[in-house]
Amino acid sequence: MAIHRTKMLIIGSGPAGYSAAIYGARAMMEPIVVQGLQPGGQLTITTDVENYPGFADVVQGPWLMEQMQKQAEHVGTRMMWDTIVKVDLAGGSPFRAIGDSGDEYVGDVVIIATGAQAKWLGVPGEMELGGKGVSACATCDGFFYRGKKVAVIGGGNTAVEEALYLTNHSDDVTLIHRRGELRAERILQDRLFANPKITVLWNKAVERFEAGPAGALERLALVDTRSGETSDFACDGAFVAIGHAPSTELFKGQLEIDEGGYLVVEPGTPKTAIPGVFAAGDVMDHTYRQAVTAAGTGCMAALDAERFLAGLDIDLAGHAEAAE
Ligand code: FAD
Ligand code: NAP
Repeated sequence: MAIHRTKMLIIGSGPAGYSAAIYGARAMMEPIVVQGLQPGGQLTITTDVENYPGFADVVQGPWLMEQMQKQAEHVGTRMMWDTIVKVDLAGGSPFRAIGDSGDEYVGDVVIIATGAQAKWLGVPGEMELGGKGVSACATCDGFFYRGKKVAVIGGGNTAVEEALYLTNHSDDVTLIHRRGELRAERILQDRLFANPKITVLWNKAVERFEAGPAGALERLALVDTRSGETSDFACDGAFVAIGHAPSTELFKGQLEIDEGGYLVVEPGTPKTAIPGVFAAGDVMDHTYRQAVTAAGTGCMAALDAERFLAGLDIDLAGHAEAAE
């Protein structure tokens, strides 16, 4: 078992974690990024990324994240292939975390960037057709379905917002919900029902996503949740919007978590209630959930961490790492 000592411990390696690392390293905080089970984060499971600034042409999600990792390493970040399984934040700085490997990480500040995972239905065809018609992010992928027929699955705020957003690209959007009423708030429902481009299919659950001869999504196999009657629904794109699950299990009992499962921060900042513990990216953001906003809050967390360390009067020029 090794002990890894750093001024800045970053948990998570998505856009938030890597951006925090780039800023932290350039401020001589010698960050350690513990990458977790999905090095590079959610963008590694998508293909085209068209809305991350700085690239005139479409870039691939995995490539973009590889570049961010290299940039963070280039300026002095250490990457650890490990997953944090336990944290001790209550005692204050320095904070301790234990990895799946058994290694211990000690950081004067901690930046939590563990992200959030879109929930999936878990039915046949869903994973196989990811990027070939099935998506969990209309803002990211809606553009690819311009003029095509699309479906959104879910009945909460996210599903309704996704359906409304998709009408920017398509005149034929169908919201498919498993019950006869929506969970979404009234104002969003009103907008949905008033939009002539959107149809709602009530009391229908998706049993399977099915591909056509070209290997892309062609139809959904539906079942009526009251009668059990089955039917097919032809479409070019299907957006699963049944909620996001932030990765906050690790912090239960130590940090405040809201009813949606997100870490609570001081509004407009990445500061948690524990001085020296910051949260960035999708783990604290139930509104925007984009790579660029995750990167932005990662930057904010690193800058606030730097200020916190300056207040603690820790020598930023010569911190010794004790690994054994
Ligand atoms: P994430 O990217 O979720 O990364 C979380 C990181 O935390 C991972 O590295 C994981 O391994 C790590 N982690 C979790 N738990 C632990 C632990 N216990 N110990 C150590 N590490 C841990 N946004 C866009 O702007 N444009 C797009 O085109 C776009 N397309 C998308 C397509 C898909 C299919 C999906 C699912 C999302 C898409 N998004 C897109 C959203 C975007 O990916 C997220 O907003 C962004 O990745 C959030 O970044 P993050 O750093 O907060 O967390
Ligand atoms: P949500 O409110 O939990 O709604 C999830 C929806 O998906 C529900 O309609 C649910 O159906 C459906 N669903 C869940 N599992 C399903 C399954 N296996 N099969 C079929 N349908 C399934 O999630 P959300 O819409 O992502 O919202 C999450 C939180 O973020 C909420 O607090 C929400 O208010 C907030 N949010 C707010 C805004 C905003 O303020 N503008 C926007 C987005 C999200 P049932 O209704 O039958 O349970």
